[in-house]
Amino acid sequence: MQTTAVVIGAGHAGLAMSRRLCERSIDHVVLERGQVANSWRTQRWPSLRLLTPNWQTRLPGHPYAGDDPDGFMPVADVVATITGYARLIGAPVRTATTVHAVRATPRGFAVQAGDDLLRAQAVVLATGACGRPAIPDAAGAIPPSVTTVTPFAYRGPGQLPDGGVLVVGASATGVQLADEIHRSGRPVTLAAGEHVRLPRSYRGRDIFWWLEATGLLAERYDQIDDLTRARHLPSPQLTGTPAADITDLNMLTAQGVRVTGRLGRITGGTAQFSGSLANICALADLKMNRFLTRADQWATEHGLDDQLPPPHRFAPTRVDPRTPLQLDLTSGEITTVLWATGFRPDHSWLDIPVRDRAGRIRHDGGVVTGAPGLYLLGLPVLRSRASTYIHAAAADTQALASHLHSFLSRRR
Ligand SMILES: Cc1cc2nc3c(=O)[nH]c(=O)nc-3n(C[C@H](O)[C@H](O)[C@H](O)COP(=O)(O)OP(=O)(O)OC[C@H]3O[C@@H](n4cnc5c(N)ncnc54)[C@H](O)[C@@H]3O)c2cc1C
Repeated sequence: MQTTAVVIGAGHAGLAMSRRLCERSIDHVVLERGQVANSWRTQRWPSLRLLTPNWQTRLPGHPYAGDDPDGFMPVADVVATITGYARLIGAPVRTATTVHAVRATPRGFAVQAGDDLLRAQAVVLATGACGRPAIPDAAGAIPPSVTTVTPFAYRGPGQLPDGGVLVVGASATGVQLADEIHRSGRPVTLAAGEHVRLPRSYRGRDIFWWLEATGLLAERYDQIDDLTRARHLPSPQLTGTPAADITDLNMLTAQGVRVTGRLGRITGGTAQFSGSLANICALADLKMNRFLTRADQWATEHGLDDQLPPPHRFAPTRVDPRTPLQLDLTSGEITTVLWATGFRPDHSWLDIPVRDRAGRIRHDGGVVTGAPGLYLLGLPVLRSRASTYIHAAAADTQALASHLHSFLSRRR
Protein backbone atom coordinates (compact mmCIF):
# COMPACT_ATOMS: atom_id res chain seq x y z
CA MET A 1 0.00 0.00 0.00
CA GLN A 2 1.17 3.51 -0.82
CA THR A 3 0.25 6.56 1.27
CA THR A 4 1.77 9.97 1.83
CA ALA A 5 2.32 9.72 5.58
CA VAL A 6 2.16 7.00 8.21
CA VAL A 7 1.58 7.91 11.86
CA ILE A 8 2.55 5.12 14.24
CA GLY A 9 0.57 5.13 17.48
CA ALA A 10 -3.02 6.19 18.26
CA GLY A 11 -2.46 7.86 21.60
CA HIS A 12 -3.44 11.49 21.93
CA ALA A 13 -0.26 12.64 20.13
CA GLY A 14 -0.73 10.45 17.04
CA LEU A 15 -4.36 11.50 16.83
CA ALA A 16 -3.53 15.19 17.17
CA MET A 17 -1.04 14.74 14.32
CA SER A 18 -3.73 13.01 12.26
CA ARG A 19 -5.94 16.05 12.70
CA ARG A 20 -3.13 18.37 11.62
CA LEU A 21 -2.49 16.26 8.51
CA CYS A 22 -6.21 16.33 7.66
CA GLU A 23 -6.17 20.13 8.00
CA ARG A 24 -3.45 20.14 5.35
CA SER A 25 -5.18 17.48 3.18
CA ILE A 26 -2.24 15.12 3.60
CA ASP A 27 -3.27 11.57 2.88
CA HIS A 28 -2.25 9.33 5.81
CA VAL A 29 -3.02 6.36 8.00
CA VAL A 30 -2.56 5.89 11.78
CA LEU A 31 -1.29 2.43 12.74
CA GLU A 32 -2.05 1.23 16.27
CA ARG A 33 -0.98 -2.10 17.74
CA GLY A 34 -3.91 -2.22 20.20
CA GLN A 35 -6.97 -0.02 20.43
CA VAL A 36 -7.06 3.78 20.45
CA ALA A 37 -5.52 5.02 23.76
CA ASN A 38 -3.88 1.63 24.20
CA SER A 39 -1.28 2.83 26.73
CA TRP A 40 -3.99 4.14 29.02
CA ARG A 41 -5.99 0.92 28.66
CA THR A 42 -3.16 -1.52 29.26
CA GLN A 43 -0.18 0.13 30.97
CA ARG A 44 -1.63 2.27 33.77
CA TRP A 45 -2.68 1.20 37.26
CA PRO A 46 -6.41 1.49 38.13
CA SER A 47 -6.18 4.15 40.85
CA LEU A 48 -4.12 6.53 38.70
CA ARG A 49 -5.49 9.98 38.03
CA LEU A 50 -3.85 12.55 35.79
CA LEU A 51 -1.76 14.91 37.81
CA THR A 52 -2.60 17.69 35.37
CA PRO A 53 -6.00 19.32 36.01
CA ASN A 54 -8.94 18.73 33.68
CA TRP A 55 -8.89 22.27 32.24
CA GLN A 56 -5.43 21.50 30.92
CA THR A 57 -6.42 18.25 29.22
CA ARG A 58 -7.14 19.82 25.87
CA LEU A 59 -6.45 18.55 22.36
CA PRO A 60 -6.35 20.50 19.08
CA GLY A 61 -9.85 21.89 18.52
CA HIS A 62 -11.12 20.06 21.60
CA PRO A 63 -10.92 21.96 24.92
CA TYR A 64 -12.08 20.32 28.15
CA ALA A 65 -15.86 20.73 28.23
CA GLY A 66 -16.83 18.80 31.37
CA ASP A 67 -18.25 20.22 34.58
CA ASP A 68 -15.16 19.67 36.76
CA PRO A 69 -12.35 21.76 35.26
CA ASP A 70 -10.33 21.67 38.48
CA GLY A 71 -10.64 17.89 38.91
CA PHE A 72 -8.19 15.20 37.80
CA MET A 73 -9.21 12.52 35.31
CA PRO A 74 -9.15 8.88 36.26
CA VAL A 75 -7.73 6.54 33.62
CA ALA A 76 -11.17 5.56 32.28
CA ASP A 77 -11.94 9.21 31.52
CA VAL A 78 -8.61 9.66 29.76
CA VAL A 79 -9.45 6.64 27.57
CA ALA A 80 -12.91 8.09 26.89
CA THR A 81 -11.46 11.51 26.04
CA ILE A 82 -8.89 10.14 23.59
CA THR A 83 -11.35 7.67 22.05
CA GLY A 84 -13.96 10.40 21.67
CA TYR A 85 -11.36 12.61 20.01
CA ALA A 86 -10.48 9.89 17.49
CA ARG A 87 -14.18 9.65 16.60
CA LEU A 88 -14.63 13.41 16.48
CA ILE A 89 -11.82 13.96 14.00
CA GLY A 90 -12.58 10.78 12.03
CA ALA A 91 -8.96 9.68 12.32
CA PRO A 92 -8.03 6.95 9.81
CA VAL A 93 -6.83 4.52 12.49
CA ARG A 94 -6.03 0.89 11.79
CA THR A 95 -6.18 -0.84 15.17
CA ALA A 96 -4.57 -4.19 16.04
CA THR A 97 -1.77 -3.32 13.61
CA THR A 98 1.69 -3.58 15.13
CA VAL A 99 4.59 -1.97 13.32
CA HIS A 100 7.54 -4.39 13.32
CA ALA A 101 9.99 -2.41 11.22
CA VAL A 102 10.50 0.99 9.61
CA ARG A 103 13.21 1.27 6.96
CA ALA A 104 14.44 4.08 4.73
CA THR A 105 14.00 3.54 0.98
CA PRO A 106 15.21 5.65 -1.96
CA ARG A 107 11.74 7.23 -2.20
CA GLY A 108 10.81 7.50 1.47
CA PHE A 109 10.04 4.80 4.01
CA ALA A 110 8.83 1.21 4.13
CA VAL A 111 6.69 0.37 7.14
CA GLN A 112 6.22 -3.31 7.94
CA ALA A 113 3.02 -3.95 9.89
CA GLY A 114 2.29 -7.65 10.15
CA ASP A 115 2.05 -8.96 6.59
CA ASP A 116 1.39 -5.49 5.21
CA LEU A 117 4.11 -3.34 3.72
CA LEU A 118 3.23 0.34 3.55
CA ARG A 119 5.25 2.82 1.55
CA ALA A 120 5.18 6.48 2.56
CA GLN A 121 7.09 9.70 2.04
CA ALA A 122 6.86 10.65 5.70
CA VAL A 123 6.59 8.74 8.97
CA VAL A 124 5.62 10.12 12.37
CA LEU A 125 6.73 8.10 15.40
CA ALA A 126 3.99 8.72 17.97
CA THR A 127 4.51 5.60 20.04
CA GLY A 128 4.97 7.50 23.28
CA ALA A 129 7.62 8.24 25.84
CA CYS A 130 6.72 5.42 28.18
CA GLY A 131 6.90 2.28 26.05
CA ARG A 132 8.67 0.25 28.73
CA PRO A 133 9.51 0.63 32.40
CA ALA A 134 13.12 1.61 33.10
CA ILE A 135 14.59 -0.98 35.47
CA PRO A 136 18.04 -0.48 37.03
CA ASP A 137 20.75 -3.10 36.59
CA ALA A 138 20.50 -3.91 40.30
CA ALA A 139 17.24 -5.72 39.52
CA GLY A 140 19.26 -8.72 38.36
CA ALA A 141 20.51 -9.26 41.93
CA ILE A 142 17.12 -9.32 43.68
CA PRO A 143 16.81 -12.63 45.56
CA PRO A 144 14.29 -14.99 43.92
CA SER A 145 12.17 -15.04 47.10
CA VAL A 146 11.23 -11.38 46.49
CA THR A 147 8.44 -10.53 44.05
CA THR A 148 9.21 -7.68 41.65
CA VAL A 149 6.55 -5.52 40.00
CA THR A 150 6.64 -2.69 37.48
CA PRO A 151 3.98 0.04 37.23
CA PHE A 152 2.79 -1.66 34.00
CA ALA A 153 1.88 -4.80 35.93
CA TYR A 154 0.77 -3.16 39.19
CA ARG A 155 -2.99 -3.30 39.67
CA GLY A 156 -3.30 -2.51 43.39
CA PRO A 157 -1.93 -3.50 46.80
CA GLY A 158 -4.18 -6.59 46.91
CA GLN A 159 -2.10 -8.25 44.20
CA LEU A 160 1.09 -8.10 46.30
CA PRO A 161 2.18 -10.84 48.70
CA ASP A 162 1.86 -10.05 52.42
CA GLY A 163 4.84 -8.29 53.92
CA GLY A 164 6.99 -5.24 53.39
CA VAL A 165 7.31 -3.42 50.07
CA LEU A 166 10.37 -1.57 48.82
CA VAL A 167 9.28 1.11 46.36
CA VAL A 168 12.28 2.24 44.33
CA GLY A 169 11.91 5.79 43.00
CA ALA A 170 10.19 8.81 44.54
CA SER A 171 8.79 10.68 41.56
CA ALA A 172 5.06 10.85 40.79
CA THR A 173 4.66 7.08 40.37
CA GLY A 174 6.77 6.19 43.42
CA VAL A 175 5.14 8.58 45.89
CA GLN A 176 1.62 7.72 44.69
CA LEU A 177 2.17 3.98 44.94
CA ALA A 178 4.09 4.19 48.23
CA ASP A 179 1.12 6.10 49.65
CA GLU A 180 -1.47 3.65 48.30
CA ILE A 181 0.42 0.55 49.42
CA HIS A 182 1.13 1.98 52.86
CA ARG A 183 -2.58 2.79 53.31
CA SER A 184 -3.36 -0.87 52.59
CA GLY A 185 -1.50 -1.77 55.80
CA ARG A 186 1.80 -2.98 54.36
CA PRO A 187 5.06 -1.54 55.70
CA VAL A 188 6.64 0.52 52.92
CA THR A 189 10.24 1.60 52.43
CA LEU A 190 10.73 4.25 49.75
CA ALA A 191 14.15 4.63 48.10
CA ALA A 192 14.36 8.24 46.97
CA GLY A 193 16.87 9.46 44.40
CA GLU A 194 16.78 12.82 42.65
CA HIS A 195 13.22 14.14 42.63
CA VAL A 196 11.14 17.21 41.86
CA ARG A 197 9.17 18.50 44.84
CA LEU A 198 6.16 20.71 44.10
CA PRO A 199 3.01 21.50 46.08
CA ARG A 200 -0.36 20.53 44.57
CA SER A 201 -1.46 24.13 44.94
CA TYR A 202 0.08 27.43 45.94
CA ARG A 203 -1.64 30.66 46.96
CA GLY A 204 -5.00 29.17 46.09
CA ARG A 205 -4.11 28.08 42.54
CA ASP A 206 -3.16 24.67 41.20
CA ILE A 207 0.57 24.32 40.58
CA PHE A 208 -0.06 23.72 36.88
CA TRP A 209 -1.80 27.10 36.73
CA TRP A 210 1.43 28.63 38.03
CA LEU A 211 3.61 26.56 35.68
CA GLU A 212 1.58 27.87 32.73
CA ALA A 213 1.10 31.44 33.96
CA THR A 214 4.79 32.04 34.69
CA GLY A 215 5.73 30.81 31.22
CA LEU A 216 7.85 27.96 32.55
CA LEU A 217 6.01 25.28 30.56
CA ALA A 218 6.25 27.37 27.40
CA GLU A 219 10.07 27.52 27.46
CA ARG A 220 11.24 26.26 24.09
CA TYR A 221 13.62 23.35 23.74
CA ASP A 222 16.18 25.49 21.91
CA GLN A 223 16.24 28.05 24.72
CA ILE A 224 16.93 25.59 27.54
CA ASP A 225 20.56 25.56 28.70
CA ASP A 226 20.86 21.89 29.62
CA LEU A 227 18.36 20.24 27.30
CA THR A 228 19.51 16.67 27.97
CA ARG A 229 19.00 17.19 31.68
CA ALA A 230 15.60 18.84 31.14
CA ARG A 231 14.52 15.88 29.04
CA HIS A 232 15.44 13.47 31.81
CA LEU A 233 13.96 15.32 34.77
CA PRO A 234 11.76 13.06 36.86
CA SER A 235 8.02 13.77 37.08
CA PRO A 236 7.00 16.00 40.01
CA GLN A 237 5.91 14.46 43.30
CA LEU A 238 2.21 15.12 42.75
CA THR A 239 -1.04 13.22 43.06
CA GLY A 240 -4.12 13.97 41.00
CA THR A 241 -6.34 14.91 43.87
CA PRO A 242 -6.88 18.25 45.54
CA ALA A 243 -7.40 16.37 48.83
CA ALA A 244 -3.69 15.63 48.98
CA ASP A 245 -2.38 19.17 49.17
CA ILE A 246 1.13 17.87 48.97
CA THR A 247 2.37 14.33 48.35
CA ASP A 248 5.92 14.77 49.45
CA LEU A 249 8.40 12.87 51.54
CA ASN A 250 7.34 14.74 54.71
CA MET A 251 3.76 13.55 54.26
CA LEU A 252 4.86 9.98 53.60
CA THR A 253 7.26 9.97 56.56
CA ALA A 254 4.51 11.34 58.84
CA GLN A 255 2.26 8.47 57.73
CA GLY A 256 4.92 5.92 58.63
CA VAL A 257 6.61 5.27 55.29
CA ARG A 258 10.34 4.72 55.82
CA VAL A 259 12.23 6.94 53.37
CA THR A 260 15.80 6.02 52.47
CA GLY A 261 18.35 7.03 49.83
CA ARG A 262 18.74 6.03 46.21
CA LEU A 263 19.08 2.29 45.64
CA GLY A 264 22.65 1.47 44.67
CA ARG A 265 23.96 -2.06 44.43
CA ILE A 266 22.46 -5.28 45.71
CA THR A 267 25.17 -7.66 46.84
CA GLY A 268 24.62 -11.01 48.50
CA GLY A 269 20.92 -10.22 48.81
CA THR A 270 21.57 -6.93 50.63
CA ALA A 271 20.35 -3.70 49.07
CA GLN A 272 22.54 -0.67 49.62
CA PHE A 273 21.20 2.85 49.65
CA SER A 274 22.98 6.13 49.07
CA GLY A 275 23.77 8.25 52.10
CA SER A 276 23.10 11.46 50.17
CA LEU A 277 19.35 11.62 50.83
CA ALA A 278 19.65 14.80 52.93
CA ASN A 279 21.54 16.59 50.14
CA ILE A 280 19.11 15.41 47.49
CA CYS A 281 16.15 16.61 49.55
CA ALA A 282 17.80 19.96 50.24
CA LEU A 283 18.31 20.42 46.50
CA ALA A 284 14.67 19.53 45.76
CA ASP A 285 13.52 22.02 48.44
CA LEU A 286 15.78 24.69 46.98
CA LYS A 287 14.42 24.20 43.47
CA MET A 288 10.82 24.21 44.69
CA ASN A 289 11.42 27.47 46.56
CA ARG A 290 13.14 28.96 43.52
CA PHE A 291 10.04 28.27 41.46
CA LEU A 292 7.73 29.64 44.17
CA THR A 293 9.82 32.83 44.20
CA ARG A 294 9.42 33.08 40.43
CA ALA A 295 5.66 32.61 40.90
CA ASP A 296 5.54 35.34 43.56
CA GLN A 297 7.47 37.75 41.32
CA TRP A 298 5.13 37.01 38.44
CA ALA A 299 2.08 37.63 40.64
CA THR A 300 3.49 40.98 41.78
CA GLU A 301 4.38 42.03 38.24
CA HIS A 302 0.83 41.22 37.14
CA GLY A 303 -0.80 43.05 40.06
CA LEU A 304 -2.32 39.91 41.54
CA ASP A 305 -1.03 40.19 45.09
CA ASP A 306 -4.31 41.67 46.37
CA GLN A 307 -6.36 38.89 44.80
CA LEU A 308 -4.27 35.94 46.00
CA PRO A 309 -3.44 34.66 49.48
CA PRO A 310 0.00 35.87 50.63
CA PRO A 311 3.21 34.04 49.68
CA HIS A 312 4.39 31.31 52.01
CA ARG A 313 6.91 28.48 52.06
CA PHE A 314 6.58 24.79 52.87
CA ALA A 315 8.51 23.05 55.64
CA PRO A 316 11.90 21.72 54.51
CA THR A 317 12.05 17.98 53.92
CA ARG A 318 12.86 16.17 57.15
CA VAL A 319 15.34 13.34 56.78
CA ASP A 320 15.65 10.81 59.57
CA PRO A 321 19.40 10.32 60.21
CA ARG A 322 18.67 6.84 61.59
CA THR A 323 17.34 5.57 58.25
CA PRO A 324 19.22 2.36 57.44
CA LEU A 325 21.59 2.45 54.50
CA GLN A 326 21.14 -1.23 53.78
CA LEU A 327 18.38 -3.79 53.84
CA ASP A 328 18.70 -7.56 53.84
CA LEU A 329 16.29 -8.66 51.13
CA THR A 330 16.62 -12.30 52.17
CA SER A 331 15.34 -11.72 55.72
CA GLY A 332 11.66 -11.86 54.75
CA GLU A 333 11.05 -8.25 55.85
CA ILE A 334 10.67 -7.16 52.22
CA THR A 335 8.54 -9.43 50.06
CA THR A 336 8.03 -7.10 47.09
CA VAL A 337 10.17 -4.62 45.19
CA LEU A 338 8.22 -2.16 43.05
CA TRP A 339 10.20 -0.40 40.34
CA ALA A 340 9.02 3.20 40.12
CA THR A 341 12.21 4.12 38.32
CA GLY A 342 10.72 5.76 35.26
CA PHE A 343 9.88 4.82 31.71
CA ARG A 344 11.67 4.79 28.38
CA PRO A 345 10.38 5.04 24.82
CA ASP A 346 10.51 1.87 22.76
CA HIS A 347 11.58 2.42 19.15
CA SER A 348 13.32 -0.94 18.90
CA TRP A 349 11.62 -1.60 15.54
CA LEU A 350 13.11 1.52 13.91
CA ASP A 351 15.66 0.23 11.45
CA ILE A 352 17.24 3.55 10.44
CA PRO A 353 20.63 4.72 11.79
CA VAL A 354 19.47 7.88 13.56
CA ARG A 355 20.50 7.09 17.15
CA ASP A 356 23.22 8.69 19.23
CA ARG A 357 25.70 6.70 21.33
CA ALA A 358 23.22 6.46 24.17
CA GLY A 359 20.70 4.88 21.79
CA ARG A 360 18.44 7.95 21.69
CA ILE A 361 16.98 9.17 18.43
CA ARG A 362 18.74 12.40 17.39
CA HIS A 363 16.22 15.10 16.60
CA ASP A 364 15.73 18.83 16.49
CA GLY A 365 12.42 19.54 18.17
CA GLY A 366 10.89 16.35 16.77
CA VAL A 367 12.45 16.59 13.28
CA VAL A 368 14.65 13.51 13.17
CA THR A 369 18.23 14.29 12.20
CA GLY A 370 19.61 12.52 9.12
CA ALA A 371 16.30 11.06 7.93
CA PRO A 372 14.25 13.67 6.03
CA GLY A 373 10.55 12.93 6.38
CA LEU A 374 10.88 11.21 9.77
CA TYR A 375 9.30 12.87 12.83
CA LEU A 376 9.05 12.17 16.56
CA LEU A 377 6.22 13.09 18.88
CA GLY A 378 5.21 12.74 22.52
CA LEU A 379 8.66 12.83 24.17
CA PRO A 380 9.46 14.99 27.21
CA VAL A 381 10.56 18.54 26.35
CA LEU A 382 10.33 17.68 22.64
CA ARG A 383 9.65 21.29 21.62
CA SER A 384 8.94 22.95 24.97
CA ARG A 385 8.82 22.00 28.62
CA ALA A 386 5.08 21.45 28.11
CA SER A 387 5.73 18.64 25.59
CA THR A 388 5.87 16.27 28.54
CA TYR A 389 2.12 16.79 28.98
CA ILE A 390 -0.95 16.01 26.92
CA HIS A 391 -1.99 19.58 26.14
CA ALA A 392 1.28 20.36 24.33
CA ALA A 393 0.33 18.05 21.47
CA ALA A 394 -1.59 21.00 20.00
CA ALA A 395 1.50 23.18 19.55
CA ASP A 396 3.93 20.35 18.83
CA THR A 397 1.80 18.80 16.09
CA GLN A 398 1.11 22.22 14.59
CA ALA A 399 4.84 22.86 14.20
CA LEU A 400 5.74 19.36 12.99
CA ALA A 401 2.81 19.06 10.57
CA SER A 402 3.83 22.38 9.10
CA HIS A 403 7.42 21.12 8.70
CA LEU A 404 6.14 17.88 7.16
CA HIS A 405 3.94 19.81 4.73
CA SER A 406 6.91 21.95 3.59
CA PHE A 407 9.03 18.82 3.25
CA LEU A 408 6.44 17.23 0.95
CA SER A 409 6.12 20.44 -1.09
CA ARG A 410 9.90 20.60 -1.56
CA ARG A 411 9.99 16.99 -2.69
CA ARG A 412 7.31 17.59 -5.26
C1 LIG B 1 2.04 6.89 34.76
C2 LIG B 1 1.89 8.05 33.85
C3 LIG B 1 1.16 9.15 34.25
C4 LIG B 1 1.03 10.25 33.42
N1 LIG B 1 0.29 11.31 33.84
C5 LIG B 1 0.13 12.36 33.02
C6 LIG B 1 -0.65 13.47 33.40
O1 LIG B 1 -1.15 13.54 34.51
N2 LIG B 1 -0.81 14.48 32.52
C7 LIG B 1 -0.24 14.48 31.29
O2 LIG B 1 -0.43 15.43 30.53
N3 LIG B 1 0.53 13.45 30.91
C8 LIG B 1 0.72 12.40 31.75
N4 LIG B 1 1.51 11.36 31.38
C9 LIG B 1 2.27 11.48 30.15
C10 LIG B 1 1.41 11.10 29.01
O3 LIG B 1 0.69 9.95 29.20
C11 LIG B 1 2.27 10.75 27.87
O4 LIG B 1 2.93 11.91 27.50
C12 LIG B 1 1.36 10.30 26.78
O5 LIG B 1 0.76 9.06 27.12
C13 LIG B 1 2.10 10.16 25.56
O6 LIG B 1 1.11 10.16 24.58
P1 LIG B 1 1.47 9.60 23.23
O7 LIG B 1 0.26 9.72 22.37
O8 LIG B 1 2.72 10.22 22.78
O9 LIG B 1 1.80 8.09 23.56
P2 LIG B 1 0.88 6.93 24.08
O10 LIG B 1 -0.34 7.44 24.73
O11 LIG B 1 1.75 6.00 24.83
O12 LIG B 1 0.44 6.28 22.71
C14 LIG B 1 1.34 5.56 21.92
C15 LIG B 1 0.57 4.53 21.13
O13 LIG B 1 1.47 3.87 20.25
C16 LIG B 1 1.11 2.51 20.19
N5 LIG B 1 2.28 1.75 19.75
C17 LIG B 1 3.46 1.59 20.41
N6 LIG B 1 4.30 0.84 19.66
C18 LIG B 1 3.65 0.53 18.52
C19 LIG B 1 4.01 -0.23 17.37
N7 LIG B 1 5.20 -0.79 17.23
N8 LIG B 1 3.07 -0.36 16.38
C20 LIG B 1 1.85 0.25 16.49
N9 LIG B 1 1.48 0.97 17.57
C21 LIG B 1 2.37 1.10 18.57
C22 LIG B 1 0.70 2.20 21.61
O14 LIG B 1 -0.11 1.04 21.67
C23 LIG B 1 -0.04 3.46 22.01
O15 LIG B 1 -1.40 3.40 21.77
C24 LIG B 1 1.64 10.24 32.16
C25 LIG B 1 2.37 9.14 31.75
C26 LIG B 1 2.50 8.05 32.58
C27 LIG B 1 3.29 6.88 32.12
